[in-house]
Amino acid sequence: METLLLNAKNEGAIDAAAKILKNGGLVAIPTETVYGLAANAFDAKACADIFKAKGRPGDNPLIVHICDMDMLGDIVEEVPEGAKKLAEEFWPGPLTMIMKKSEKIPDVTSAGLPSVAVRFPSHPVAREIIEKAGLPLAAPSANLSGSPSPTTFEHCVHDLMGRVDGIIDGGASSVGVESTIISFAGEKPVLLRPGYVTLEQLRETLGEVEISHAVLEKLEEGEKVLSPGMKYKHYAPKAQVTLIKADSETYVNYVNEHEEEGVFALCFDEEAEKLSVSTVTYGSEFSDEEQAEHIFEALRMIDESGAKRVYAHSPKVTGVGLAVYNRLIRAAGFDVIEL
Ligand code: AMP
Ligand code: MG
Repeated sequence: METLLLNAKNEGAIDAAAKILKNGGLVAIPTETVYGLAANAFDAKACADIFKAKGRPGDNPLIVHICDMDMLGDIVEEVPEGAKKLAEEFWPGPLTMIMKKSEKIPDVTSAGLPSVAVRFPSHPVAREIIEKAGLPLAAPSANLSGSPSPTTFEHCVHDLMGRVDGIIDGGASSVGVESTIISFAGEKPVLLRPGYVTLEQLRETLGEVEISHAVLEKLEEGEKVLSPGMKYKHYAPKAQVTLIKADSETYVNYVNEHEEEGVFALCFDEEAEKLSVSTVTYGSEFSDEEQAEHIFEALRMIDESGAKRVYAHSPKVTGVGLAVYNRLIRAAGFDVIEL
């Protein structure tokens, strides 16, 4: 398949992307979290094509993107009070909410679930494309299943060239990790995936919010989960990764003691010069937002470096750090050392 490469800055590019989407095609689009692979959320065939292009397991549902609150009425049965409060506070932005789906959403989009995930992105290009297409867009991350989520146009080209109808460049994603997901499908709100909107912020607005144990822990074989995406080994680099929980000095000493050919440190900016092994940095020790912005790019660099063994310094598990930790612990296949 021929893939049309577009730049959002060029005249007519957004119209061209919207036209492909209206005609049932697939376009990778920029959002503030990561790039998304978009299709008409009401079109079962187009949504099935997303699964094919990504090699995504059919039981992993898609997030539906909207550009105004009116679109929401077509997608969900009703909007719970808690979801209204969060929408007021955090939409448009990096927050996905799960609600009971309307009949207009095909089963393939929600992977057979009675609920649907919805997000109102803040990225101007994403919003303009949804507006011009005049449709809600189903859009999971625009990577091949199993590789790190794409935060740049180049990542999408690397993964999806020849597999989708178009890819549109809108610059690097500023948040860098996928959206926070909260479910209103059960009795109490549950955090299914941490992101830039933090657990602390959600609790401030809603009061009680439970946290799915899949956020921090490995699932048992065959365990049923609220968020199917959590059961797949996401973001798995080729190298064997161990996550090290330690203060900076202890981490640096540990890695230097394990110096060997093919050993890499995935560390904070401040640590690189103290390490005797090859390093890939993912932001300042003091900024969880910077760490989120760079973590997926860093994981791709690790893959390209040919690293065999990676010691990653764990971020803290509060604020946006919880989102970074959640991605890294999966990249490490839950191999954690606490020093
Ligand atoms: P991605 O867009 O690649 O970040 O993947 C979407 C994520 O949203 C996956 O982890 C899904 O499991 C989750 N998700 C989407 N729809 C639902 C739903 N109805 N219930 C629970 N989780 C969902
Ligand atoms: Mg994904």
